[in-house]
Amino acid sequence: MNKRTSTRRDFLSITGAGAASLILSSCGLEKEQDSHQPKAGNREKPKHIITLSFDDGFKKSSIGTAQIYEKHNLSACINVIATAHLNTFRPPGEHIAASDKGDFGLWNELKQRGHEIMPHSYKHANLRQLPLAEAKDLIRRCLDYFSKELKGFDPKESVFNFPYNSSTPELENWLPTQTKAFRTGGGAINPLPHAGQVKLTCTGYGPGNCEKDIEAKITQLLERDSGWLIYNTHGLDGEGWGPITSGFLDKLLERLTAIKSVAVMPAGKALSQFGIV
Ligand SMILES: [Zn+2]
Repeated sequence: MNKRTSTRRDFLSITGAGAASLILSSCGLEKEQDSHQPKAGNREKPKHIITLSFDDGFKKSSIGTAQIYEKHNLSACINVIATAHLNTFRPPGEHIAASDKGDFGLWNELKQRGHEIMPHSYKHANLRQLPLAEAKDLIRRCLDYFSKELKGFDPKESVFNFPYNSSTPELENWLPTQTKAFRTGGGAINPLPHAGQVKLTCTGYGPGNCEKDIEAKITQLLERDSGWLIYNTHGLDGEGWGPITSGFLDKLLERLTAIKSVAVMPAGKALSQFGIV
């Protein structure tokens, strides 16, 4: 039997043709074993890391996202608002208001199943628009809430995902005293994980479907020798700002896991596994 491992060229030729239906046909069953998920203890860095960073903690979408990642033996990167499940939560805008959010019962279950659940603020305030002391207080309250409600959560191992990817230099200087790293707006492609890397930048696209933009950013990543793409996604199948469809995510992960140079993984895991030396 011929072993079929996809290459960057395969992906580029598909996305270049703009043909979403041209999914690599045989790689799903015959992909090189573990090419996308380096084994624990294996410190050899992949050349390309792709993190789809799902924000806002929609209940239905988070369950669906986790199921699709599990189908491909991957861990999802899900960033949730500490108080979004409470009756007192005031959703900031229609995209967050329109759908049910998960609670910490669900977040604990998904974490136990191997997914990464990270903080995406206390109440989704735009921290750039607040006085520094108030912004710090909200971040501390967020991390305290996670510490209390999410089993095994350690702020020092966490990645804080700024609402609206909106930070300030003062908050960026202070946050590494509270967390392992933070994600904010900026370029989509980061250097591969390395010691001292605390600022992760990402991009996103919305409010409509962001699939074409994801394809374009992945193509940009694979044209480089190496890099870490962090793409800020939200919900599935119409939920949230800049959604993607379940079918797209499933086929995308099938394609990506077949490319030997690519590792699909959540941000905290990428840092802990490959950000040491
Ligand atoms: Zn958000």
